[in-house]
Amino acid sequence: MNVMIVLGTRPEIIKMAPIIRELRTRRRRFSLVHTGQHYSYEMDRTFFKSLGLPAATVNLNVGSGTHGAQTAKILHRIEQVLLELKPDVVLVEGDTNSVMAGALAAVKCHIPVGHVEAGLRSFDRRMPEEINRIVADHVASFLYAPTPLAARQLRKEGIAVGKILVTGNTVVDSLDWIKKNPALAATVRSLGFSPGRFLLTTIHREENVEDRRRLAGIVDGLHRVARHFDMPVVFPAHPRTKGRLNRWGLENSLKLKNIRLLPPLDALPFMALQTHARLVLTDSGGVQEESCILRVPCVTLRDNTERPETVAVGANLLAGADPGKILAASVRMSNRARSWKNPFGDGRSGRRIVDHLSSIFH
Ligand code: UDP
Repeated sequence: MNVMIVLGTRPEIIKMAPIIRELRTRRRRFSLVHTGQHYSYEMDRTFFKSLGLPAATVNLNVGSGTHGAQTAKILHRIEQVLLELKPDVVLVEGDTNSVMAGALAAVKCHIPVGHVEAGLRSFDRRMPEEINRIVADHVASFLYAPTPLAARQLRKEGIAVGKILVTGNTVVDSLDWIKKNPALAATVRSLGFSPGRFLLTTIHREENVEDRRRLAGIVDGLHRVARHFDMPVVFPAHPRTKGRLNRWGLENSLKLKNIRLLPPLDALPFMALQTHARLVLTDSGGVQEESCILRVPCVTLRDNTERPETVAVGANLLAGADPGKILAASVRMSNRARSWKNPFGDGRSGRRIVDHLSSIFH
């Protein structure tokens, strides 16, 4: 078996890590192709180090650009790598341009694709991620659905039952691995915060950061929440978000109030903050899942979610970008008992996926 793993962004590194470690432990042949969609140290290399991953076999260095330009560069450059390395199967994870381009390039070379985290749908086709997921799911041969709901969606779309396997989400495996790090417990205080006495936010979705009105609404919401709870809001800002806050003059208003803008954090300190936050406010897909798994209440700064399992179990509420709704949802969530069930599996998803591949490719 010769597996090629294609990844390009922070969440893909985090969610592919358990599969990569599993392949390495079993001494299976694999290559790691990094598209370079995320390329700064804080969004990329630090994760390889702290998650114990080998360096990428190849880096396509595509960098940022419009959706079309970025997708085209990946498609073009990856084809050459596929022809050279001749993998038996290509694995992609999630919903980025790297996923769609990696999957398309592979099927066009007649190489089967496995899509990890298949079957998620926000039913909002204005989201670039929704298009990427749908394309990847419909060209893949192996669909690793994280939950039964995701598997049901794939069947509804006409994908053959035999291609779908419910594996759980590899993010559970990743959290279990990070939790073992002895440095975790002391991290929150070393960052200058008291456990349970701060709120945590991340914002980076295109619909929020490319729309001044929505971004201003969210910033207003964060101020209201900080005032109501009388707690700092810790805000590790994605580079793109930082750029927009700056361009639209919103960064200064954040500095004056009880909001702590930080650079993007490595997996370990971010996980420490997530574990000990009073509440998480986010538009991230991964952060919605992780807060649900860690039993920390979440308010989602979007009008929809492709992770409805988090809302169904009582771990998450959708608030959009309206400041009043953000405050109301935060108050409601902070009063919820943290007793919901984790809908994302048992932390053995990486093993299941490698077992499945091993049963096919030997
Ligand atoms: N994350 C991190 N540092 C940060 C913010 C997020 O390590 O400063 C992690 C987070 O724990 C989660 C992942 O990044 O595993 C989510 O990535 P992101 O929000 O960029 O993408 P999405 O999940 O929305 O696709």
